Amino acid sequence: MMLKPIMKSALVGLAALTVAACMTTNQVTGRSQFIIIPPSQDAALGLEAMKEVKKSASVQTSGLLAARVQRIGNRIAAISDKPDLDWEFVVIDEPVLNAWALPGGKIAIYRKMVDSFTSDEELAAVIGHEIAHAVLRHGAEQMSRAQMQNLLIVGAGVAVGASTEDQETAQMAVGLASLATAGFVQLPHSRKMELEADHIGAIYMAKAGYDPRASVRLWQRMKTLKEGGGQQPTFLSTHPSDDKRIARLEERMPEYLSHYQK
Ligand SMILES: [Zn+2]
Repeated sequence: MMLKPIMKSALVGLAALTVAACMTTNQVTGRSQFIIIPPSQDAALGLEAMKEVKKSASVQTSGLLAARVQRIGNRIAAISDKPDLDWEFVVIDEPVLNAWALPGGKIAIYRKMVDSFTSDEELAAVIGHEIAHAVLRHGAEQMSRAQMQNLLIVGAGVAVGASTEDQETAQMAVGLASLATAGFVQLPHSRKMELEADHIGAIYMAKAGYDPRASVRLWQRMKTLKEGGGQQPTFLSTHPSDDKRIARLEERMPEYLSHYQK
């Protein structure tokens, strides 16, 4: 698309305004985040995306595995900073070591991940990590970052009022669902988000009554599973490395234990 210079500068101005308007301070971490999706849209986005996932993947919402994940998930979500999200925990029936969180509190754990952790405490570390991603709005932040790359196009759409908020939600939800089923491979969480989710997740699991030391065991076990070879989905990505995660968790373990012993 060719734009006249004056139109271009108007859009760049709009883009700058958009960036300024979209910096928000996260209430839990105090970190400044760039998010163009309003919090009010998270729920609809997550709900729609989960619907899409259910069409294309074998999603279990009941049965033994799902019940186990839901019992742990609901217990942790209840003591999180956002107990009132429309939380949903499902199991995806695939032999994959992965888990993900969509905006608004829609969380999926893959069957192999559930099977690999026979202790609830280690599974709680996985689920606590995903709950933290949802509470901290990392999905919305990731999407905002991706959309920054198309900012002029988005700006043009906004400028001519090309789409309503509902249409936008529907389009984004379809895109999000395909990313989710692909394990977010095209849109990995940043290193910073991963360490944040480890940290807040450990606090949440401890507050919910799960021994936070299991978070260290989780990443140690992940290392072993990885050494077994095979594909490495996002959950196992090397950014940050497992050793880095373990070191960070051990460093702050006294803080996590203080929540556990309360
Ligand atoms: Zn993560």
